[in-house]
Amino acid sequence: MIRDITVLAGGTGGARFLQGLLHGISAGTLPGVAQDAVVTVVANTADDIWVHGLKVCPDLDTVMYTLGDGIDPVRRWGRRDETWSVRTELAEYGVEPTWFGLGDRDVATHLVRTQMLEAGYPLSAVTTALCRRWLEPTYGDRVRLLPMTDDRVETHVAVTDEESPSGRRVVHFQEYWVRLRASVPAETVVFVGLDQATPGPGVLDAITGADLVLLPPSNPVVSVGTILGVPDVRDVLRVTKAPVVGVSPIVGGSHVHGMAEQMLTSIGVEVGAAAVGLHYGARSAGGVLDGWLVDEGDADQVARVRDGGIACRAVPLMMTDHDATAAMAAAAIELVTGPAAV
Ligand code: GDP
Ligand code: CA
Repeated sequence: MIRDITVLAGGTGGARFLQGLLHGISAGTLPGVAQDAVVTVVANTADDIWVHGLKVCPDLDTVMYTLGDGIDPVRRWGRRDETWSVRTELAEYGVEPTWFGLGDRDVATHLVRTQMLEAGYPLSAVTTALCRRWLEPTYGDRVRLLPMTDDRVETHVAVTDEESPSGRRVVHFQEYWVRLRASVPAETVVFVGLDQATPGPGVLDAITGADLVLLPPSNPVVSVGTILGVPDVRDVLRVTKAPVVGVSPIVGGSHVHGMAEQMLTSIGVEVGAAAVGLHYGARSAGGVLDGWLVDEGDADQVARVRDGGIACRAVPLMMTDHDATAAMAAAAIELVTGPAAV
């Protein structure tokens, strides 16, 4: 019986997958999974940024607001029914950055977080406190949200800039995504502080003690890639008794939303479902995966993944609603625990 599931998640893709997974757990539609199973989310914190003196953690907040039904359903980030007076007032002062959208409701979260951090609490403790509002009322202790690390880690992107003497400029990942809309090539992606980071409290135990580890269709470079880059995380994934199975964020040769294409290109990985699975690699060959799902339209890539020592199937991978997403999670579980598991 699967009672403990650990998910390594980014923001929007991770949160949507978690909604479907939790829906499947409570509906009892996931093979071998207890209806009171505990889900531990290890979330990416390398998108975090200090803005106007506030610590903003986009992926933690997206997971928290989505599962707590506070997310804006159209934007898929920030709070629903948001107003923007703070942003307007800051713009009136001409204060930069003006491109980062801090909503009034959202600001309350960042104020609480920043105050607690400045009082000396680690990010993990702050996150637990914020989750008392967002997760506990619905899920009790059945969902835990853990930052991948309490240390400061930031993804930066080098882009071409003709006006700069060196011909390039390094920007925070948020500036690349929000201001530049990922419309210019990412020459290099740098994870500042990642190789010195310590896994957050409970992170390694959540992987070693799990019955199942899931990689949602989160960005393989700047979401899952950064979690895997926290020292020791990859090592415990290799040795955990839990099967590790992932879902491709690349469908039909491109990402569904976001900028996975630009990020994969910048690290020299082909933009394809099989290529991403092989980039993670088979656990049997020093990688992190036992199983990998590709979209039904990418069925011709299954053999390539299997040749790399990873169990693979092609199933519908569009998270159109919670039932469709729960079916993806069920297929992922079946792939590594069912009779056909290799
Ligand atoms: P971010 O932190 O907000 O960028 O979100 P994540 O890293 O968690 O997820 C972003 C990834 O989710 C993108 O690369 C998308 O291609 C992928 N994605 C979003 N919706 C879907 C979907 O319906 N199906 C699949 N397979 N991938 C999706
Ligand atoms: Ca993110």
